[in-house]
Amino acid sequence: MIYLDHNATTAPAPAVLEAMLQVLGSVWANASSQHAPGQQARRTLADARARAAQVLGCKPAELIFTSGATEANHMAVRGLLAAAAPGRRRVVFSQVEHAGQLRLARALAAQGVPVDTIGVHPDGRLDLEQAAAAIGPETALVSLMAANNETGVLMPVAEVAALAHAAGTALHVDATQCIGKLPFRFADSGAAAVSLSAHKFHGPKGVGALLLRQGQPFVAQTLGSQERGRRGGTENLPGIVGMATALELLGDLAAEAARLRALRDALERGLAAALPRVHVWGQAAERLPGTSYLRFGRLEADVVLQRLERLGVAASSGAACSSGGSEPSHVLRAMGVAPAEALAAVRLSMGASSTAQDVDYLLHSLPPLLEPLLREEQALAA
Ligand code: PLP
Repeated sequence: MIYLDHNATTAPAPAVLEAMLQVLGSVWANASSQHAPGQQARRTLADARARAAQVLGCKPAELIFTSGATEANHMAVRGLLAAAAPGRRRVVFSQVEHAGQLRLARALAAQGVPVDTIGVHPDGRLDLEQAAAAIGPETALVSLMAANNETGVLMPVAEVAALAHAAGTALHVDATQCIGKLPFRFADSGAAAVSLSAHKFHGPKGVGALLLRQGQPFVAQTLGSQERGRRGGTENLPGIVGMATALELLGDLAAEAARLRALRDALERGLAAALPRVHVWGQAAERLPGTSYLRFGRLEADVVLQRLERLGVAASSGAACSSGGSEPSHVLRAMGVAPAEALAAVRLSMGASSTAQDVDYLLHSLPPLLEPLLREEQALAA
């Protein structure tokens, strides 16, 4: 199988599984217990925290382990909002945040919290003029993703951090798609809080973190003594050790990014040369190195995914599935893409397992399957 869905999740690395199994079997005591096994669990937790912090460029005390990025995102927004100075009640999101974060935005608005949104340009880049207009003296916090999970387009975190800083407000960055794909250091990020999720970089599912700048006013959302009172609940020690191990395995991310960028560009060039009406979104913008978000004419994404499946290729559509069928992606809608084109969106996301052979195979086998469909589509439109 050729796996082209690395933005959805990644396979746990063998060393991650090994480290987790060791902890699951041998270090199962509660890290809050006073007895010797509890102390061993506490030492294992402290060691994993120090190792993860080293790779993430943060202080160990700034790392709060969570069940993943969704929890980290929600606790960041609610925790920073609750701690904001009186008079600062507004929350700013981009229109292309992850679906879970937009649900939170809607829930806050329904509770009476004023929510401001920042749009994007047709190529997926954030509209910085709208950002400047939205962020002001009443802003409690800004929540912005570092890279979009669908288009891969990178967001201007440094520029928005400067706007937030000038307005005296906090910036939360959802770096879930960036960490593991591009070099990152919390200390240099300009953010007050950053979310991440281990399964996006060959760690286990169900574990992630919120990095929270030391001294940043914050109100805990899950009460308990763990994580310095900022996130209650017995720690998922095997998951945390798995995440620390995955972070240490990341290696030279700049070199890996260059490798994936070359593969991705070759794939996009080859498909556009072999087929008519191939459109790639965000191609002119700075993007995650392995992400390609494209459509083949207006062929429905499900039709293309079926052909890919036949070829043994796993990929994703851009559509959100709901009980009523497929909904066009909110990201593409924010970019001004027509619904019929948005429903044709297919995401190919490469990663550690991707090779030049995969690209050659796709370029050799996919165009003959799609070409007749595209011809038929054009004949019907004529
Ligand atoms: N934020 C972004 C940008 C994502 O891509 C994802 C996962 O797809 C999440 C948040 C949610 O991560 P998790 O499912 O690990 O909570």
